[in-house]
Amino acid sequence: MRHVAVIGSGPAGYYSAEALQKLFGDEVRVDVIDRMPVPYGLIRFGVAPDHQSIKAVSRRYEKVALSDNVRFCGNVLVGRDVSVPELLSLYDAVILATGAPNDRPIGIPGDDLPGVIGSAAFVGWYNGHPEFADLDPPLDVAAAAVIGNGNVALDVARILSKTPHEFVGSDIVAHAFGALANSAIRTIHLLGRRGPHQIAMTPKELGELGHLEDAVPRTDLADFPPEMDDALLEPGQRKSVTHLREFSGTTPDKGKTILFDFFAKPVRIEGDGRVERLIVERTALDDKGAAVGTGETYEVPCGMIVSCIGYKTPPIEGVPYEEDRGRFANSEGVIGNGLYAVGWARRGPSGTIGTNRPDGYEVAEKIAADLSGGGGRKQGRTGLDRLLESRGVDLVTFRDWQKIEAAEAARAREGAPREKFIAIEEMLGARGR
Ligand SMILES: Cc1cc2nc3c(=O)[nH]c(=O)nc-3n(C[C@H](O)[C@H](O)[C@H](O)COP(=O)(O)OP(=O)(O)OC[C@H]3O[C@@H](n4cnc5c(N)ncnc54)[C@H](O)[C@@H]3O)c2cc1C
Repeated sequence: MRHVAVIGSGPAGYYSAEALQKLFGDEVRVDVIDRMPVPYGLIRFGVAPDHQSIKAVSRRYEKVALSDNVRFCGNVLVGRDVSVPELLSLYDAVILATGAPNDRPIGIPGDDLPGVIGSAAFVGWYNGHPEFADLDPPLDVAAAAVIGNGNVALDVARILSKTPHEFVGSDIVAHAFGALANSAIRTIHLLGRRGPHQIAMTPKELGELGHLEDAVPRTDLADFPPEMDDALLEPGQRKSVTHLREFSGTTPDKGKTILFDFFAKPVRIEGDGRVERLIVERTALDDKGAAVGTGETYEVPCGMIVSCIGYKTPPIEGVPYEEDRGRFANSEGVIGNGLYAVGWARRGPSGTIGTNRPDGYEVAEKIAADLSGGGGRKQGRTGLDRLLESRGVDLVTFRDWQKIEAAEAARAREGAPREKFIAIEEMLGARGR
């Protein structure tokens, strides 16, 4: 029998469990450990609540999660309840699938002013992450700036723009639903350092902006290269740019405006005790396509700034870490003897849910090769249970999670967003023990 611990129950964690199960069949026992009492990582806490069809991908992991040789061990924080060296002594292999949940700082003067928020915090707030439930973003202002030109920035701009009616069928949490319904924000600036051809936004998500009930996206054609240059783009990017060109049209005004500010590099945040304006330097592209400042600056009046500029994996004691890339130091998923990394903890924060699948399969193959000469003498889950019990850790199983999920579904009210539990104690209590 091979014993494998996977730390993290997001997509990368479950794809790894699936791959191990396929490769070793009944000769493996996998423990998927997560600090939260609920599984699926960013599928629950990152993917936008109005994108339920994407969140539904978690159903795919249920088959793996419910099989006899894979076990969910929720409410266990690795680094506090159990250490990586302890896990390495109990399991033949340990896979870090801990994601990249920490915001990268903007790194400009004024970025510590109240009203400057990282996207992990803002997204966690509207998705009911227990750590961000008390965020209380300042929505009593007329304008917000969202820094970044990727899909997370689009999610944030869209969520700030929607009417309560547009959240029906979503699972946005009640505190965010209520606060957004009363929001005074009318203008949302979306700032990117480069131009329309360099965006990292996908066409489907961009297209959605054109169909909002009470908000209209706007671009300025002066920011675009000649239209014939669009032919040089790969098809997906060309489609995205076509949407951006459409946003320069004469659509009638609505209650809110999403303004695309291209070639805009934030240089300073100013305000008296809270954010009042963002100072931006205009950029131009050099011959390598990098944004360089032109020295010309302008002001974007705004009372809230959400930075969507990337994430970092939190280091874990004793595990080699690459500070500049914000991920565990690894060579094609291998960190060291018996220790591996997958997903955002391995590659950094890029790609979609599906991008994490090959990581799991690659690492499973590597584990099979590394264990070919031995393995199977470790205690695995029996040892973990003994250790956690001695430390008074309240382990949450997958069956417990199913009870939590059923209790959440039972709270659903007709015509309102689904109500997720937010506090850890609420989740633990919903197990009905
Ligand atoms: C705001 C946002 C929106 C997104 N929207 C989409 C989308 O619409 N479509 C799409 O395809 N992709 C989307 N993505 C990307 C997608 O979510 C990621 O590709 C994917 O979640 C990364 O998977 P992961 O398993 O590496 O990390 P995660 O999903 O972050 O999972 C990591 C898990 O590890 C656990 N963990 C961390 N540290 C510890 C520890 N010390 N001990 C125990 N457990 C720990 C966490 O609790 C978490 O459950 C989005 C990402 C973000 C940030």
